[in-house]
Amino acid sequence: MNLAPSAFAALCITAACAGTAGTGATDTSAIRARAAQPATPAKLGGVRADSAYVAALRTALGADAELSLVPELQAASESALLAERKPGGVVLLEPNDGRVLAIFSVSGDRGDPLVTPTQPNSTFKSFTALAALRDGIVTPSSVHHCSGRYPFAGVTLSCPSAHGDEDARRALAVSCNSFFYDVGSRLDATHLAAVARAFGLDKHTGIELAEGLGSIPAPADDAHPLRPLLDAIGHGAYTVTLLELARAYAAIANGGRLPSLHLVDARRRADGVRVPSVHLPPEQLQFEPSALELVRRGLADAVAADYGKAHAFALEGYPFAGKPGGGDSPPRAGQVPTEAEQSVEQDTWFLGYAPPTRPTLLVAARLERARDGHVAASVVSRVLARVRELSP
Ligand SMILES: [Zn+2]
Repeated sequence: MNLAPSAFAALCITAACAGTAGTGATDTSAIRARAAQPATPAKLGGVRADSAYVAALRTALGADAELSLVPELQAASESALLAERKPGGVVLLEPNDGRVLAIFSVSGDRGDPLVTPTQPNSTFKSFTALAALRDGIVTPSSVHHCSGRYPFAGVTLSCPSAHGDEDARRALAVSCNSFFYDVGSRLDATHLAAVARAFGLDKHTGIELAEGLGSIPAPADDAHPLRPLLDAIGHGAYTVTLLELARAYAAIANGGRLPSLHLVDARRRADGVRVPSVHLPPEQLQFEPSALELVRRGLADAVAADYGKAHAFALEGYPFAGKPGGGDSPPRAGQVPTEAEQSVEQDTWFLGYAPPTRPTLLVAARLERARDGHVAASVVSRVLARVRELSP
C-alpha cells in the first residue's frame, strides 16, 4: 500500500505535530550502536507515543511487525521536514545493510514524495560521473573549463556559475552543469542507462511498502539533440523516487554494494515467538573502487570545501558528504524551460551521509516544488545536527 493516502496530504504542517515518534517496542540498541553512533539509552530516555505517521505505518505493516525505526531519529526527521512547511519526504538508512532508521513524508499534489518518481536533477551527476569514468571519457585528471555557458546544437545552455578549470571531483563538488553537459555530449546513452539500472533506479528497493518506479529512457533520437546533455545533469528523461535514490547513494557511500531496504526486523507470532525477517544481502556492483572513491571525494568536498555547493550546511565537528539537486541549477536556452519556470516546478533533493569515509548513516530528503534549492540540504543538515547532539 502507499503509505501516503490522502489523509497524509492534510497531515499537520505545524510544530505541534513534530517530534512524537516511536515506541520502545522495537529493539534498537544494536542499530544505535552501529548506525547513528549517537545515542546512549540514558540520553534517549522518555520515549513517547507513536506519531500519526508511525501509527499508520504500524497499521499498514501489521501489529505483529517489529519495525527498524529508531525513535530519536524518527522524531528528528519529522521535526526537520515539518519545519519547512512543504510537501516532502525524508528517509534515514543504515547504508551498509539498508535498514530504514527513520522515514517520513508529507504528500503534495504529486503524491508521496518518498515513492513517486520525478527528475533527479543534479543528484544524477554522480551516476553520470561513474559512467564517464567507466568508459574512459573522463579520467581523474581530465580538466574541463566552465565559462558559465555551454553552446551546443545551436543553443546555449547555462551553468549557475563560471566555474573555470575543474576536474571531475571538483565538478561534483560545485555541481557544475557545463562539465556534465560535455560528458553527456560524448557518452554512449546506453552506458549511462546501464549505470542507472545497476544502481536500481528503475527497481523496487525491497522496502515492505508499495512504491512507484523510476524510469530509464531509451536513447534520444536525432530530433532531440539536447536530451543526452540534459539527461547527464538529471534534467532530461530519467525519473527516480527518493527511496531508489537513497538506496543508490547508500551503494556509493558503502563502496559499491546495493542494499535491499527494509523496515521490518521481525514478526511476532501469535504464540509470542519472534521470527526475524529474512533480507536479501547487498548486491555487489561492478565499478572500479577508484571511480567510486573519486565520486565520494567530490561529495565530501561539496560540504567540506569552501567552494562546495553545500558548504553552507556543514556542521562543526560532524563531517558529512552530500549531493544537492534542483532549485538552482536549471539549464536555460532554446527549448529548455526558463529559470523561473524551473525554480517553480522543480523538486529539490539532498543525499547526505556521515561520516564521509566508512559511513554509518545516510539521510535523503526531497522537497516538492521547493523554489529554494537549499531546503532539502537544510532538512538533512538539521537531522544530522540532531544526531550530533545525541552523539556521546
Ligand atoms: Zn560550471
